[in-house]
Amino acid sequence: MRRPPATRLLRGVVRAVFGAHIAGERPERQALECFNDALAAAPGVRELAWSATGPRLTVRERTGTRMEAVLTRLAEDGADLLTGLSAAKLSACGAQGCTRLFIRSHAARRWCSDRCGNRVRAARHYADRERSAK
Ligand SMILES: [Zn+2]
Repeated sequence: MRRPPATRLLRGVVRAVFGAHIAGERPERQALECFNDALAAAPGVRELAWSATGPRLTVRERTGTRMEAVLTRLAEDGADLLTGLSAAKLSACGAQGCTRLFIRSHAARRWCSDRCGNRVRAARHYADRERSAK
């Protein structure tokens, strides 16, 4: 196995893989390999636990160092997102200058936050006002 990526590198890799998914494309091979290296860095033994609230999937133990376990956990969360029910809702914020990704809570949502939505609406309002003033 190759060395797992550093956290900063993994962040860029997750971003690239998520971006490819949003664009409906296949991620670059190197990004996918790096993602999978993180998944394999500290695999855990999953265990189905049962509490008063019902079933819960937990990880009993992990191999690797603490840092590798963190990287693997991050990659697992990313893989769960990409293969789960929310995958189709993963979106890039439509506000100019914003690089955030988000899970759409409804089909018409285009911005990551109220702040971005308000910024876009304000810019649109000022642009309309400028146009009508001329
Ligand atoms: Zn945004």
